[in-house]
Amino acid sequence: MEYQGRCHCGALGFVLTSDAPPADWQIRACQCAFCRAHAALSVSDPKGTLQFTHRDPTRLQRYQFALRTADFLLCRDCGVYIAAVTRDGKHGIINTRALVERRDLGEPKPMVYDGESEDARLARRAQRWTPVSSS
Ligand SMILES: [Zn+2]
Repeated sequence: MEYQGRCHCGALGFVLTSDAPPADWQIRACQCAFCRAHAALSVSDPKGTLQFTHRDPTRLQRYQFALRTADFLLCRDCGVYIAAVTRDGKHGIINTRALVERRDLGEPKPMVYDGESEDARLARRAQRWTPVSSS
């Protein structure tokens, strides 16, 4: 199944392909200051694929903070945070708040990653985040 997401003005978009039904997704409420400020609820599927479908890539703002191991993707016009990708661009998560269709999602699980080393963080994301497809 394909799940489309986009920012509010439609400049940025993604398609998550996953065999898992949304009700079974493990929804993560990261407790870092960035994710709390956006009320972000993240999901990834290591067996799925994530493709970006930006209609206007010039509106893409990449934001890094803390260990700078990932790019958080925001729209320069409407400000919506849609997804994040690892520094190497190979793995990503989506912000379920940016899904086009409202879905019945499971209860979000609060996540705290403070104190995680850079190596541990990269390893966790390579294992748990969704492979990014460029085609
Ligand atoms: Zn936008």
